[in-house]
Amino acid sequence: MNEYDSDHLARSLIINGYIPVDNPANADIILINTCAVRAKPEQKAASFLGRMIGIKKKKPHTILGVAGCMAQQEGIEFIKRFPQVDLVMGPREIDRFQDYLQRIQTDQEKVVATDLNFLPPKPIHCEGYFKGRVTGFVSIMEGCNNFCTYCIVPFVRGREISRSPDDIITEVKDLLADGIKEITLLGQNVISYNWQNQKFASLLHEISKIEGLMRLRFTTSHPKDLSDDIISCFKDINKLCQHLHLPFQAGSNNVLKRMKRSYTRESYLDIIAKLRETRQDIAITSDVMVGFPGESEDDFELTLDLIRQVQFDNLFSFKYSDRKGTLAFKMDDKIPEEVKSRRLKILQDLQKEITLHRNRELKGMQIEVLVEGLSKKGDQFSGRSGTNKIVNFTHNNCEVGDIVNVRITECFFNSLQA
Ligand code: SAH
Ligand code: SF4
Repeated sequence: MNEYDSDHLARSLIINGYIPVDNPANADIILINTCAVRAKPEQKAASFLGRMIGIKKKKPHTILGVAGCMAQQEGIEFIKRFPQVDLVMGPREIDRFQDYLQRIQTDQEKVVATDLNFLPPKPIHCEGYFKGRVTGFVSIMEGCNNFCTYCIVPFVRGREISRSPDDIITEVKDLLADGIKEITLLGQNVISYNWQNQKFASLLHEISKIEGLMRLRFTTSHPKDLSDDIISCFKDINKLCQHLHLPFQAGSNNVLKRMKRSYTRESYLDIIAKLRETRQDIAITSDVMVGFPGESEDDFELTLDLIRQVQFDNLFSFKYSDRKGTLAFKMDDKIPEEVKSRRLKILQDLQKEITLHRNRELKGMQIEVLVEGLSKKGDQFSGRSGTNKIVNFTHNNCEVGDIVNVRITECFFNSLQA
């Protein structure tokens, strides 16, 4: 979502006459788009901000802004702590970026903009911006109403609001005109999309009919909202890739309840079974965390057990990170850092084995790959399968943006050779 927002802000600058530079020391405007979901991305953004403040001290006319969820969370405090910052702008304010710039430039003011009630941004037409890319993002909804007890997102991105199908389709067509072939629809919980009673499955059908679109994906989905009509899309819509990212967070009902996730391990496993019945080759990935307050060894074992049962293609795994303002922040029984680290290592070692095992099952098979460019070493092509696995391959007759058939010859943890 942040990448998407950053592209939106960059396009807004370009259509107003700015040009990108390679080195921030040469920039007139430096805008840092931040994430507040865990402590680690916050620390990264803070250290980057320190470097940019160094540049501003040497070039005082540079406009320095902080955007995104940290900006939303800190508001005016940011400017108190870092007086060199000119603009603090939350994620729901990005459509008003140009007005704020003008105020900074002409009135020499500092601006703090953290209103969470604005509508999602209108599409920006900036021809050629995405040239050279094969895959792109389109946001279909903003915010979240779920308030999982560990999560800062509802506080910094506001309540759920869907974009109109017109805006979404305009943006999809713009990306296709620049040569993009695969679109990922974005939102904190895309499947709760609702525009004047048009729901997510109907939107998927509508978008899939757009000419020139080769592949469609979406992320992220909440298990409690994954209805049968959405599951059916995996067999009814050809362009929809056979991959679903479905965060489960924990395998113990006890922990899930205190996380306020509104599903159980049993209902999660039922959904996985239904998905595999509907589309036998579907890849399933997920998010999980260890060390939620009060997580016992038995709870953790249940998480490992769920991982073994589902056999995810891949997992994003995190240590619980205390976020000020959330309900979990106030819970007792915080898990010590060394216990979280030990559990994370055990979990990641297990998933490594499973990912490798699942990848090895593909050996000898012929699969479709969308060619994205050259491989890291530069001696082969590289692309992704419908299941979202990186595939490096040799081919004597293909171009970037083509979908080609390749045969898998070797399987690693991070990629496949074909
Ligand atoms: N809307 C998405 C998740 C967005 S946050 C969903 O509900 O699935 C992305 C991931 O970050 C979450 O799935 C969760 O695993 C992780 N996360 C969120 N808050 C966290 C916290 N306080 N500590 C550790 N991980 C967290
Ligand atoms: Fe956070 Fe839960 Fe909303 Fe996802 S669904 S963004 S984890 S509150």
